[in-house]
Formats: sequence, structure tokens, C-alpha cells
Amino acid sequence: MSFVDRFKQLNWDDISLSIYAKTAEDVERALAKPKRDLEDFKALISPAAEPYLEQMAQQSFALTRKRFGHTMSLYIPLYLSNLCANACSYCGFSMENRIKRRTLTKSEIEAEVTAIKAMKFDSVLLVTGEHETKVGMNYFREMLPAIKPSFNYLAMEVQPLEQQDYAELKTLGLDAVMVYQETYHPSTYAQHHLRGNKTNFEFRLETPDRLAQAGIDKIGIGALIGLEEWRTDCFFVAAHLDYLERRYWQTRYSISFPRLRPCEGGLQPKSVMSDKQLVQLICAYRLFNPQVELSLSTRESEVFRDNVLPLGITAMSAASKTQPGGYALEETELEQFEISDERSASRVEAMIRSKGFDPVWRDWHSAYSG
Ligand code: SF4
Repeated sequence: MSFVDRFKQLNWDDISLSIYAKTAEDVERALAKPKRDLEDFKALISPAAEPYLEQMAQQSFALTRKRFGHTMSLYIPLYLSNLCANACSYCGFSMENRIKRRTLTKSEIEAEVTAIKAMKFDSVLLVTGEHETKVGMNYFREMLPAIKPSFNYLAMEVQPLEQQDYAELKTLGLDAVMVYQETYHPSTYAQHHLRGNKTNFEFRLETPDRLAQAGIDKIGIGALIGLEEWRTDCFFVAAHLDYLERRYWQTRYSISFPRLRPCEGGLQPKSVMSDKQLVQLICAYRLFNPQVELSLSTRESEVFRDNVLPLGITAMSAASKTQPGGYALEETELEQFEISDERSASRVEAMIRSKGFDPVWRDWHSAYSG
């Protein structure tokens, strides 16, 4: 039994229709409940909930403060390699792009770690492209022990691995893994993932099961918003979370909501989500699940991040570079995607304080659970 079994019971078109059929009464009923289910979540992300955004924001703010206080965890991505054997239509690292490839050596990683530590971060997200042999288990076995002693919290966003691999990486200090399904619509998924291991939709879909069974502390899930109709994809994220929490209640979860933006010459989103709709989604996730961590990256603009910070977000990246060697080696040409909020870590810290929040440089839970 894995999420694939549950997934097969969920029909995309039926779910989509039922989200769009939700009424103002459904939204009001959901808002009045102390505990919400997936039907309530559908109402909260539906067009019918748009006039209730202010109420949703107030409840989301209150629930987030109750659970997380006035804190904001800060983390930084450390790109180790842009080698990739997949061809994803939306990514600069796709094997079909003729770009300079680079995988950091141990001494290059040390230089990056020193630069990151100088910015105060104690929580790092290691990122690589998905290349089974060149940035696979052998590389991780060598690099994790060199990185972990410098950080309180170590997360990874790399190719999906087997359960025993995750269990081994846990012994080397791995705390969290982010694995985004990109879209839960199988044929749209197939259109955007043309080559390599990532074409295997179900193996990816089962990854959070393998992670939880390997005892990884925190699992990050999400969809790349824009590949498919965003409301339905985000419902599937909520259903995935619901399944995981019921089955693996000891594990912690986080959700990310990266948006694919319309850009010249790039992949155009099938479904464009406005800023207001992203706020609605953030509040809907919080109202559905008071304890899930919600993470916002530097893909979003300064203004948007500053405004949305109090509403439900619990973690933010800052000062991010999305290329291997971006911090100390001054590599500038190999970016995975463009950063929108380019402020330094200290400027983001100052902004957080100015809003009456305490920046936490490590993972929120590890900082407060002793
Ligand atoms: S999204 Fe990941 S798997 Fe796809 S091309 Fe980019 S780095 Fe490779």
C-alpha cells in the first residue's frame, strides 16, 4: 500500500468539477469549522472563496501564530551540481540544454559552506540535478559527512532514491527531503518529462512513502503551479499530505508552491495563478492543516514575500543562488531559474524583524524542541 493506491481512487475531472461547483455556503461552512477536511479545502481554493480572502487571511494568521509563534525559519539552497539526465520542459538544467555543466568537488563545497556560514545560515538545502551515476549515492556518501558538521539542519532536493538509500543518508546526517511531483495529472506529467528516470510518474509519487518508511524527519511535497489547472493540482497536494499524515504521523511535512511564470521564450503556463490566488492557496493550506510547514522561495518578488510573510508562511529561503558555485566561486552562468528576490540574507533578516518576527536560522522544530 502506498499513495499510488489512494491516487488511483481520485479522478482528476470529478475533483476539478467539484471544486468549481463549490458555493458561498460551502465556503462559509468551511470557515466556521474548527477542523477542516478535504471537501472544505476544495471550497477554500474554489473561485467561490475569493470574496472571503480577508476572513481566510485572518484565520490563517491566527492559526499560524498559535502553532509557530512570531518566528520565520530561514534556509539557503546549496547547488552541488547541474548535471541532469532528465529532460523537463521547464528547467534550465534539462539535459537538452547545451549549458556548461559543473559538479562541485569537496574543496569547492567547503568554500561554498564557508560563504554560507558567513551569512549566518544553519539550515541548508542541498540541490543537484538528477543524474543517477555522477550525482548519485556515491557522491552523496562522500559529500554529506563533509557538509553536515557545519549545519544544524540538512535537507536535500535530489533524484528520488530507494528506501535503503534514504536510511543510509539519514545515518550521515540527512534531516529532510523535498520531492515535488510537479503535476499530479499523469498525461500532462508525461508531456513535460520526456526523458530519463523522471518519466516514471509512480516511482516519484511513492517517494514520500519511502522517505517516511526510512524515518526521515521531514518531507516536502508540492506541485509546480502552472503546469496544469492549479486548483486541482493543489487539491492533490492536500490529498497527498492528508494520506501521509494519517499513515506516517511521526513525520513532519512541508509544502512549497513554486509558480511557473509566463516568460519570453520560456515555457508558458497552462494555468496562470495571480498573486491574490497564491495568497488564497496559502491560507487554504493553513486552514486545512494548522501544523504543516509552508515554505516560500526567492522565486517570488520582494514585495510579495514581505506582504505574505505573516499569513501562513513558516520558512523562507534568502540570498539564494541557483547555480553550483554561486556563493564563493562567483559562478554566474549556470542558473536553474531566475531569482526574483535578490536581497542579501541580512536585508531579509531586517525585513523579518521589522514585521515583528524573529528570524530562526535553523529548522524551526529543531530550534524550539531543544
Ligand atoms: S527539474 Fe530536476 S530533473 Fe528536471 S531537468 Fe531540472 S534538474 Fe533535471
